[in-house]
Amino acid sequence: MASDSVNVYIDETGDRGPGSTSSPIFGMAAVLVDSVGSLNLRRAVLQLRSDFNVPENSVMSWKENLKSHDRRKRAVEVLGSVAGLKVCYVYVVKSALKADSYLTDNQRFYNYIAFKAYKASLWAARNWKGQDARVWTRYGHVKGHDHRTTETYIRREASLDPRVPFHMEQGLRWVASDTYLESQAADIYGGFLKAATWPSGDFGYVEPSYLLGIWHQLRNSEQCAIPLGIMSMPDSGIIRKARWFPCLHCTK
Ligand SMILES: [Zn+2]
Repeated sequence: MASDSVNVYIDETGDRGPGSTSSPIFGMAAVLVDSVGSLNLRRAVLQLRSDFNVPENSVMSWKENLKSHDRRKRAVEVLGSVAGLKVCYVYVVKSALKADSYLTDNQRFYNYIAFKAYKASLWAARNWKGQDARVWTRYGHVKGHDHRTTETYIRREASLDPRVPFHMEQGLRWVASDTYLESQAADIYGGFLKAATWPSGDFGYVEPSYLLGIWHQLRNSEQCAIPLGIMSMPDSGIIRKARWFPCLHCTK
């Protein structure tokens, strides 16, 4: 039998800046689909584009097209029912970082989180489909970021770390947001994380219901999603302290 293939789409949420005008978190969502999941996910994205009247020549995004609670709930319903899909999240709470950490270096910050997300997704792919599965990873291209340095960094770190099944990788790439429909889903999954972790509005509320609505798609959520399905940094226990955290007797 031919080995399985897994496509991975990774998108970031928040910015890397340290100041008070920047986002309180920076994170990445990695969406993994097998061959059935790919088909289902593309169908789901087309459904949402149609539901939200996204013009044919523009990319659907959390920021532009999912401003209302209603639309976000709809996205949870449509994406949350896609079979053959798994999600891994990695995010940093900037206020918990030391001042001299990678926070002060945009390039290093991105590279560091990108590699964390990468490891999580390769481990998830291996756990899901076995180590002979072939993986294609596509990061969303970030404006103004030289992703060649990130690629060099990831390739070096991944090949030095024997725990990372880098042999599974078939095509590590950075792609424009309009290249794959699936990248638009990765952006929306990033939005679910943002809503749950980024206090907003006049009263600084967070809205975890979207993330909880797709919780069953998080890797390992049937046992404990920490840290392989969702990892907060610098301390993987940060997310456990959130009032909405669903793993009641969490030992992580
Ligand atoms: Zn737990």
